[in-house]
Amino acid sequence: MSKIRCVSHGFDCKFEIDLDDSDAINRFKKHSKIVHGFEYNSGTINQILVKVRDN
Ligand SMILES: [Zn+2]
Repeated sequence: MSKIRCVSHGFDCKFEIDLDDSDAINRFKKHSKIVHGFEYNSGTINQILVKVRDN
């Protein structure tokens, strides 16, 4: 099961989201913006997805 984890991206945060969730990307982006004040652009998101799927 592939998950995006905040901690994998340098945040001291336990948030993680399952990629099986159809809205995972949007929820991850929203979380990052609200909680960390960091906005991922689509290029960065794609890199994250490639990395997560390779693992
Ligand atoms: Zn987080």
